[in-house]
Amino acid sequence: TDLAHIRNFSIVAHIDHGKSTLADRLIQETNTVSERDMKEQLLDAMDIERERGITIKANTVRIEYTARDGEDYVLNLIDTPGHVDFAYEVSRSMRAVEGSLLVVDSTQGVEAQTLANVYQAIDADHEIVPVFNKIDLPASDIDRVAEQVEDVIGIDASGAIPVSAKTGEGIREVLEAIVTRLPAPKGAPDAPLKAMLVDSWYDAYLGVIVLVRVIDGTLKKGARVRFMSNGAVHGVDRVGVFRPTMQDVGELGPGEIGFLTASIKQVRDTRVGDTITTEKHGATEPLPGFKPSQPVVFCGLFPVDNAEFEDLRDAIDKLALNDASFSHEMETSAALGFGFRCGFLGLLHLEVIRDRIEREYGIDLVTTAPSVIYHVHMRDGSMIELHNPADMPDPTLVDHIEEPRIKATILVPDEYLGDVLKLCQDRRGIQEDLTYAGSRAMVVYDLPLNEVVFDFYDRLKSVTKGYASFDYQMTGYRQDNLVKMQILVNEEPVDALSIMVHRDRAESRGRAMCEKLKDLIPRHMFKIPIQAAIGGKVIARETLAALRKDVTAKCYGGDVSRKKKLLDKQKAGKKKMRQFGKVDIPQEAFISALKMD
Ligand code: GDP
Ligand code: MG
Repeated sequence: TDLAHIRNFSIVAHIDHGKSTLADRLIQETNTVSERDMKEQLLDAMDIERERGITIKANTVRIEYTARDGEDYVLNLIDTPGHVDFAYEVSRSMRAVEGSLLVVDSTQGVEAQTLANVYQAIDADHEIVPVFNKIDLPASDIDRVAEQVEDVIGIDASGAIPVSAKTGEGIREVLEAIVTRLPAPKGAPDAPLKAMLVDSWYDAYLGVIVLVRVIDGTLKKGARVRFMSNGAVHGVDRVGVFRPTMQDVGELGPGEIGFLTASIKQVRDTRVGDTITTEKHGATEPLPGFKPSQPVVFCGLFPVDNAEFEDLRDAIDKLALNDASFSHEMETSAALGFGFRCGFLGLLHLEVIRDRIEREYGIDLVTTAPSVIYHVHMRDGSMIELHNPADMPDPTLVDHIEEPRIKATILVPDEYLGDVLKLCQDRRGIQEDLTYAGSRAMVVYDLPLNEVVFDFYDRLKSVTKGYASFDYQMTGYRQDNLVKMQILVNEEPVDALSIMVHRDRAESRGRAMCEKLKDLIPRHMFKIPIQAAIGGKVIARETLAALRKDVTAKCYGGDVSRKKKLLDKQKAGKKKMRQFGKVDIPQEAFISALKMD
């Protein structure tokens, strides 16, 4: 296809504002998929995404559209991931297209995620077409949303297109706007090949499938190509496009978006943002801006049942095949046995992986406290990147510790602002900005990532009844008074419950954890002290009283079946418990004890 007849675009939206539904309508309106094959949320392939209503991996579709000017156009839609954890992936897919539809739910207005993604689009020099969705609903207020878009985002909303992705109203106008208002891509067909790697995933039959945007030159089936970040050379088996199923084409020219397969075994070897060129007479300079994405949140995953360790290894290996940004290494814990220390891009990423292991592989897990990466500066001048509190060196050898900070943007209706400020303050936040857009406030906070990784989203949602939206980006490291706090159960340290904490908060966190554990650990035949300690110093303590009687003692030997039932119940309960010395700790204690409220 010649460049003048190509338009590449993405859709920017906050979760639930209608991105997937709009994509469905565009696909349907252009008969890209036969009526028979059309199903809801065509682009959201993964189950877990459907259930949670979030798009995790970028998806793409090529649409053919005959415009009102009578010409045939190829429209390539890249559906970007909609979550903060995947900001880098979003930024790359934005570089692969020239324009964005900014979808705003006209009953809701602009949200934090809309902002983050639209700024990425602006950074990528996109032409942006505002689309106000859900006009079929009585609460739709287009004037208010237009005002917000202009006030908060600062882009012209006069050409916004009112649509209902549900009824199909306005969809033609959207297609026309894509053709008439978005620029055609540029590129030189005869230059050396430069294709940007936008995404990749593992397919059991085809190996790794690589989504690319050709910038210059031509990507041909049968060619030998080089991935510039690692120098790996592969023979291209297939080249094709998504409609949205895979369809082979002989080649992809400049401005085109499609896939290649090359018998690549691991997604690890195909990093988002990499430049692909030909082995011979290739480009000498890669495209700018490549950086391999790094995990920022770490936690231990252990099977509740130690016999399932091999199954867990298997599950993790399989998931890692398809996820270059998920890292893992074996870990042994005195308390939890064999497991893995895993790294994630963020909390959602962690949850998704943990969920998949439990659901798809049927393995019950104990998850240890999520930790960020601390920079531990030693007295001898060296620096350790600490991502497991269990590995904290002897504090007398430590000079100072730095922790990662984030810039958080929160949009919230006025009436909840006070609660949000308090929450951020409680989490050691420093307020950077507070502005108003209509009846909503936008606050910007500088926060320690550590205070956000555990339950910040949950807390934010609950104090604002779900009305706040939140986004963040990493800003850098800063020194603070941080210490490792241990929890001792029956005098034995439970390393899975060790956390790094600010010294000023250690007492209150320690007390809260001990109180929680006291409720969560069942009583035993003996008294159990539960303590929080820094170094050798106990800073909080609770005592779990001894159980007076055996659970079956009441059964007077006579009622055998009742006795057996009770014992069975105990046994089933035990499966979900971990033994620490002589003490059984239930699985949920590991998570609940860490929650702050
Ligand atoms: P996404 O998270 O941005 O992909 O949003 P979805 O496309 O999944 O839509 C979120 C919800 O809004 C779904 O329940 C849709 O059925 C609904 N929805 C999307 N567009 C419209 C619309 O134009 N009108 C109405 N009434 N509902 C819509
Ligand atoms: Mg969606």
